[in-house]
Amino acid sequence: MQILKTVQDVRNWRKAQTGKVGFVPTMGALHPGHLSLIDHASQAADHIIVSIFLNPTQFSPNEDLDRYPKPFEADLQHCKDHKVDAVWTPHVNDVYPPDELDLEIDVPALTAILEGAHRPDHFQGVCRVVAKLFGVVLPDIACFGQKDFQQLKVIQSLTAGLSLPIEIITCPTIREPDGLAMSSRNIYLNQEERKNALALSKALREAEHLILTGEINPSNIEHAMAQILSTHNADIDYAVVRNETTLAELDVINLNLNDVVCLIAANIGSTRLIDNKVITHPRD
Ligand code: AMP
Repeated sequence: MQILKTVQDVRNWRKAQTGKVGFVPTMGALHPGHLSLIDHASQAADHIIVSIFLNPTQFSPNEDLDRYPKPFEADLQHCKDHKVDAVWTPHVNDVYPPDELDLEIDVPALTAILEGAHRPDHFQGVCRVVAKLFGVVLPDIACFGQKDFQQLKVIQSLTAGLSLPIEIITCPTIREPDGLAMSSRNIYLNQEERKNALALSKALREAEHLILTGEINPSNIEHAMAQILSTHNADIDYAVVRNETTLAELDVINLNLNDVVCLIAANIGSTRLIDNKVITHPRD
């Protein structure tokens, strides 16, 4: 497995590959969710490159950039174990050269709502880094997790909007056996918070149950999710039901017309967690 540092290192590696290149961008602290993306990429491509880059532009000043876990050696070992061909670990100046002018790339219809409303500039940072990483790696395919559902929609739109010849592969959310979606941030949770964190997956399961047993009023579903979250001391940013394609609000749920997605962001203690569930017509 090669460890690449500079943009030129990656360009040289890329030129030497003859088959399909699969790309998995990450911020490190790899867990089975990330590793499942690598395995999906290996099924769809011949050569796999993983980036490990804690992107500062997607964090607000009051967020957890400084305390974000950085188990670098363990990350490299995971990549080796999963037969990754190259790991790109750029320095921040490789991605954002100090003399480079600020660049804005955005998909406002998707980035102003939900996560974007609670984390100003977050998606602008995501768009900027993903466009940059894509431009350096020039992958044929790139894998992203459904865990970050809104991010996935933004990246799909960015890729289509820039006419990039990159296939975006969606990978399902990997969960702990009790239902908690895996996240690099779960290690912040103490024992009590770890129990309360189950409220997110519980609320999503309840939402699915209500929808599949005939509830059509989004407000009732949202209320039910909020109740479960509140009884677990979760401080809710949002717990909503939306159109699965556009993330637009719904007057009424009709799975014959469109799939829906339930999305939650909540703070458990000082840890902000997100999770979601797509609900499709039972016949699909
Ligand atoms: P991150 O390192 O948090 O930026 O995540 C890198 C990639 O891993 C993103 O595409 C995430 O959606 C994906 N990811 C994170 N957690 C999970 C999970 N539990 N299951 C599947 N994919 C995940």
